[in-house]
Formats: sequence, C-alpha cells, structure tokens
Amino acid sequence: MRILQVASEAVPVCKTGGLADVVTALSRALVECGDDVGVLLPAYRGTIERTGATLRHELGDPLGLGHPARVWTAPLADTGATLCLLQCDPLFDRDGGLYGDPQGVDWPDNHLRFGLLARVAAQLALASPALDRPVDLVHAHDWQAALAIGHLTWWGAGRPATVFTVHNLHFAGRFPHSVLPAIGAPASAWSPSELEFFGEVSLLKAGLVHADRVTTVSPTYADEIRTPAGGIGFDGLLRWRGEAVRGVLNGIDTSVWDPARDEALTVRYDASRLDDKHLARAALQREVGLDPQTHAPIFGVVSRLTWQKGIDLLLEAWPAALAVGAQLVVLGSGEAGLELALAELAAAHPGRVAFVRGYDEGQSHRIFAGVDCLCVPSRFEPCGLTQMYAMRYGTPPVVRKTGGLADTVTDDDTGFVFGPPTAAACADALVRAAVAYADRPRFVAMQRRAMAERHDWAASAQAYREIYREAVASRGALR
Ligand code: ADP
Repeated sequence: MRILQVASEAVPVCKTGGLADVVTALSRALVECGDDVGVLLPAYRGTIERTGATLRHELGDPLGLGHPARVWTAPLADTGATLCLLQCDPLFDRDGGLYGDPQGVDWPDNHLRFGLLARVAAQLALASPALDRPVDLVHAHDWQAALAIGHLTWWGAGRPATVFTVHNLHFAGRFPHSVLPAIGAPASAWSPSELEFFGEVSLLKAGLVHADRVTTVSPTYADEIRTPAGGIGFDGLLRWRGEAVRGVLNGIDTSVWDPARDEALTVRYDASRLDDKHLARAALQREVGLDPQTHAPIFGVVSRLTWQKGIDLLLEAWPAALAVGAQLVVLGSGEAGLELALAELAAAHPGRVAFVRGYDEGQSHRIFAGVDCLCVPSRFEPCGLTQMYAMRYGTPPVVRKTGGLADTVTDDDTGFVFGPPTAAACADALVRAAVAYADRPRFVAMQRRAMAERHDWAASAQAYREIYREAVASRGALR
C-alpha cells in the first residue's frame, strides 16, 4: 500500500515528544511489511540542510499567503521511508520551537503554518508530484495534520482512504472562527457537525469527524476518551463514530532503544549482564552530581513538565521517598512553577536530588539506563513511551493507572502502579518500590520480567495495516 504520513514532527528530523518517535518507528515497521511510505513534515529551520534533501516540486502559493511553498525529499534516516519536507520559509524557518517562540508562547500564525501543511498534504495525496503517483491512504497525526483529512473529504471524488490518530486529545487546535477562510476551509465547515467546537474552531475535529478510521495510542485511552471525564467535550462525537474509533498501543523502536547497543551509554548491558547496569548507575550519579550510594533506589523522570505529567504529585510525595534514602534525577522543562519547585528541591537536597532543566536526547538514554525506577505519575497519559523505554533498560517504572501506562505496566510484576491521582497514592508506590529495591533477588527478577516484555512495533504495525485495509474498503462510508 502507498501511504502518506502527515505530522508536525518525526525523529531524527525534529522532536518535542512521543509523536516524533511514533511517526518514524511506525513508518519503519510499515516499510518492513512491504508498504511504500512517505512522511510529510514542515521544513523547520535547518532541516533541509541536515537531511541533505533535494528540491522535488514547486507548489506555488496554495493558501495565497504571498510566499511560495516547495517540497524537498530525502530518505527518512535508515527507515526506508521517504521524507517530504514542506518549505515555506516565513512560516517555518524561525528561531524558537516547533510550535512557539523561544519563550514557549504559541506562534500566532500556527493556524496558517499547519493549515499549509494540511493543504499541501491533501494536494500531494491526490496529485502526488513528490511521491510519483497517488497514494492509497493518508494517515494524519494530531490537530496539526487533521485538516488534510477535511480537505480530502470536502474535495470529494477519487480521494485516498484516511486514518487519523489522536496522540493527545488535549491538543485540540483551537482557533477563532475567523481563521476558516485563510486556511482554505469551506464556509460549511462552521457547523457543530464539522469544525465548530464551543464557539471556536477545532482543527482536531477535521480528523475526528471525517477520517475513515480514527485511532488513538492505547486501548485504555480509547475507552477513556469516550467518557465525559476523559473526552473533554469530544466524547459524544467519539461515541457517535462507534467502531470507527480504535486504540492501538504504540510500540518502541527497539533498534534505537537497546541497552546492549545504545551509543549514548558509556556502559552497555543486557538482561544477562545486569551487574553492568550498576556501572551505568554509578556513571549517571557522577554525571548529574548525585552521591555515590547504592543502598536506596534512584528514581528518574524524563518528561515535559506539565500538569498532565503529575510532576506536582511527585513533588508532594517526595518526602516519603527521601525518608527511605532515595535519590531523584529529573530531566525536563515546561511550566515555570514546576521548574522552580524542582530547582528549589535540588538546592535543598544537594547530592540527593538533581534537576537538569532542558531537553537532552543522549542524557535521557543514560537516565533510563542509570536509574533504578522511572516515575511517570501522569494524571492522564494517552500511551507514554518513557515507561516502555525504562522497562527495556531494566528499570521498573512507577506509574499511575491511566491510559497506556495501565496497558503496559503490571503492578508488582514489571513495575509499580498506583490508582488515585494523589500524592499519598504516589508516595505509597515510591515506598513500595524502595522496599522492593532493597530485596535484591526480587528486584532483579522484576527487572528481567520488565526487559522481557515485548513492546516492539511488529504487532502494532499489523494492527495499523488491518485498520488501513478497513479504511480503504469503507472509504467515504462514514461513520
Ligand atoms: P509526550 O509525547 O506526552 O511528551 P511520551 O512519553 O509519549 O510523552 O514521549 C515523550 C518523548 O520525549 C520520549 O521519547 C522521551 O524520552 C522524550 N523526552 C521528554 N522530555 C525529554 C527531555 N527533557 N530530554 C530528552 N527527551 C525527552
């Protein structure tokens, strides 16, 4: 099947979160199954140079913005997929982040930036100048790509099948009603059965309403978002879509995330050489300035620092872990209040708590390897990748029972699971982990079970291919 993936990020080109890992790993897995895969991304600053892409097509000015758009192509790393980079320099060639300025404030023209991405995706899918021939299916990810599915539906005849994946329902792509003409949507899109959402436009709805199949990234999250509590206003629509909505658990790219071959590590190991993990632990303590103790566990966090991730619960629970001698290392950035609280905690407990503010891919690998338990206390978590990386590195995670965390970690078997989103429940799980760590044979058995869990993409890619086949068969027959 010829498939065009459309997304706002994909490793190794650009990444802010799990979406980037998933788009590339899924593409690799689909190519391995024999599919022909293109991946369309915006050409953010430096990406054309870094990937060695070549100019493939001049697209004119699809949204009438006064700036030409072009598509450049290159191999997507070693995946076998084709990377298509959409160049429109005034929109994408900027200092700052993928979605916002250097201070993290959303770019005011995000509707145009991703409106153009979606428009070009729909154009490529039909005429496919950069991909040589039309595609069978467009797979759009999150609100930034959702409008591609709207365009294909509105344009009608001869369209490819469409699949839309929600990686996080909380990012709904909300804008004022007035943006609709500028992003090329028809006037009819301003309706509750289309993009209208509580007095605004939600670009996410273009995917939720129109895709032949809607998926999300774990079975439990698929259930949660169909309830009023988890659906944050979209639950009625998602229930109405019925069997068209599915949960497919993300996998991890085991060629990238492998403690036996990981080049970011100074000490490599596998399940038969767990003593070497202790060397990785000692190296991490030196790297982040923790005291070289071995008697109590090191807990780690690698995360965006936001309300979703429950970092405040961990902060409130932390005295219980400190009391049993635990250490903590946190790598991340995000909300100013959480960054400040973590910096204060680290200052108050030198050698016991380390906070590295920022984003560092290599260090994230060394944390997954070097800590004893990874904490993922999320209030909600569509899938979550870090708990799966941690398990693969022999690091049992402490997680809240929600979304993909509930689907991937088994309490007291491959990790520690707590229920209510409270500091008390989190503290209880941290202390349980510390007690387990102190019982070496028990903890090593748990590490081995965690490492033996299979979270590679093979099964998930098959599930997507089945959904793709259904989408092609039922094209246009909504609901
Ligand atoms: P989300 O997509 O909600 O942020 P996921 O767990 O699905 O959460 O994916 C997060 C991805 O981003 C993982 O690959 C994780 O290792 C990575 N990550 C998050 N924060 C950092 C950081 N500060 N430095 C390096 N990698 C990070």
